[in-house]
Amino acid sequence: MKPGRAATFGKSAVQFLADCVRQTVNTKQRVEPGDASLLESVKQWQQVFEHNPVMYFMVDPVGTVINVNTFGAAQLGYTATELIGRSVLDVFFEEDRDFVRACVTLCLETVDQSHTWEIRKVRKDGSVLWVRENAKTMLRADGGPIVLVACENITERKEAENALRQSEAYLAQAQELSHTGSFGWRSATGEITWSKETYRIFQCDEGTKPRIPFMLQRIHPDDRLAVQQTTARAAREGKDYDHEYRLVMPDGSIKYVRAVARATRDFSGRVEFVGSVTDVTATKEAERRLRESEQRFRDYAETASDWFWETGPDHRVTHISEHSDTITAPAGLLGLTRWDIAPDANLEPEKWRQHREALDAHVPFRDLVYRSKDRNGQAIYVRTSGKPFFDAEGAFLGYRGVCTDVTAAIRADQAEEALRKAQAELAHVTRVTTLGELTASIAHEINQPLAAVIANADACLSWLQRNPPDLNAARRSVDWIIEDGKRASDVIRHVRALAKRTDIEMVPLDASAVVREAVALVQREMASHAVSVRMELSSALPEIFGDRIQLQQVLINLIMNGIEAMEGVDDRPRELAIRSVADGDGVVLVSVADSGVGICEQAIDRLFTPFFTTKSSGMGMGLSICRSIVEAHGGRLSAAPNRGHGATFQITLPVHREEAS
Ligand code: ADP
Repeated sequence: MKPGRAATFGKSAVQFLADCVRQTVNTKQRVEPGDASLLESVKQWQQVFEHNPVMYFMVDPVGTVINVNTFGAAQLGYTATELIGRSVLDVFFEEDRDFVRACVTLCLETVDQSHTWEIRKVRKDGSVLWVRENAKTMLRADGGPIVLVACENITERKEAENALRQSEAYLAQAQELSHTGSFGWRSATGEITWSKETYRIFQCDEGTKPRIPFMLQRIHPDDRLAVQQTTARAAREGKDYDHEYRLVMPDGSIKYVRAVARATRDFSGRVEFVGSVTDVTATKEAERRLRESEQRFRDYAETASDWFWETGPDHRVTHISEHSDTITAPAGLLGLTRWDIAPDANLEPEKWRQHREALDAHVPFRDLVYRSKDRNGQAIYVRTSGKPFFDAEGAFLGYRGVCTDVTAAIRADQAEEALRKAQAELAHVTRVTTLGELTASIAHEINQPLAAVIANADACLSWLQRNPPDLNAARRSVDWIIEDGKRASDVIRHVRALAKRTDIEMVPLDASAVVREAVALVQREMASHAVSVRMELSSALPEIFGDRIQLQQVLINLIMNGIEAMEGVDDRPRELAIRSVADGDGVVLVSVADSGVGICEQAIDRLFTPFFTTKSSGMGMGLSICRSIVEAHGGRLSAAPNRGHGATFQITLPVHREEAS
């Protein structure tokens, strides 16, 4: 808004005003009273001044309004009398007043030159009026300067301009926000126009003219041909087009854009396009991430299962998708419920009742295992987990889940269970067999206390037959009888326990006590084979967790093997060393060492295989059963040759967890 020299408007308005003033002044000077024609002329000029639809102001050098025409005053909501004598600054905004002063000063400094500028004026009622002012300073007859101002109301134009500017700003903003630029393309002349956002999308300097070769250069080489073909066809046929392509930006990054254009025809019938170009990189990226994440979860689910299923609100199967080549999902499931097809539905009513309860409560369920049939009619076991799904309003739509054929795992479990039973059975049989071998020892163990009982009973009778009877001695004999009776009964209880087919009973045990009880049963066996036993049993062992009978069976087996290994030894003492000790690593070690024939390194592992024996009457089952018993206890059984003679068998058993912690 700088005042400048008037160009066109200047002549007509301010010159006219200047002429008016000059004419009037000249006329007045020459008017004589009674000169009617001259008076008439003044009147005419005044009429023109007053009623010309241009606002005229005359202002003195300090800015006081000297004169204003009626039209001018009315435009501002005043009467001429109200304005005359006031500062002209009163009709301007406070913040514009410095500018007005500068304009007036400029005019005063350049007498007879026209200046023009645009400025706002304030009406009496506070409303705004935009004007284009044309001003000029002229000198009055007395030489004093006077500034003549003619104003044209340009409010409408200004408002239209403002509205246009604003809507352009809104459009630019909207384009920026939506990453959508606009373009125009006259295919006949190749003329292209771009909006600011289009320049930004193509990363092109706004000053440069958009040209097809530049655009093609920006487009990804793999997409160029398709873009050229699409636009060429659209131009030829005058048709709309809509396509997507990639741009390679100066930094090498890739941008995805979508261009949509509408074909129109100009007044001479030539095709031109108006369209939009949108940067869809973010959308593409989001789509890619979504696809990737979907694929990721699909991979997880496919790896963890054999097929997916979906059921409706009535729990009937609506969808089955199989993704394993080896497994076949049951056929003909669609429209059925899970319990319609499971042959165990009637056999295990409680399991199915609980499952249906979970389904009706619309809660997720996990690892339901049931029997089913594959599509060849083969019985299979299926494990399934599912989750309810709902619509946006929370209404239940059904379940989605995964299924896995767990037949192999279940069969393996069943086989393992059968094996465990068979092993227990075999252990029992061999135990009874061993007991058979131990009959002599056992009989001795019982006979000894029984003989003592008889001897003490005899003695007791003698003490009683004395005169007077020696009651104290008789009582002592009876005490011994009771003690021996208990000893005999203990042995019997023990043997019965070994012989009985009992369920395995895992309890915390003191390994040294287990050893002592086992040794008691083979005492006689050792004695009859001239074997001496040396026991080094730790008295402060942490407890182990196991089945007493089975562990004793292992020990008896090892001791009997040791005795047998020393059978032919005559040149050295036949000695068994039995030790128990706590190892720092949370295990208890029990070892049985003999001075027998020994074992060679190569044969060590074979000793534990079933039916391996070097004895004519051996079964070869002992060590294999011992190893499986120890392993079932979470321990290990190993054999090693001794440095001197004989072999050592060592049992390693974990300390009971409550002890360990
Ligand atoms: P069996 O005693 O019926 O042969 P085992 O499984 O108990 O069955 O033993 C298998 C084989 O391991 C024995 O035949 C023997 O050759 C060898 N063996 C077991 N214990 C010892 C030992 N203490 N010293 C030397 N060899 C042994």
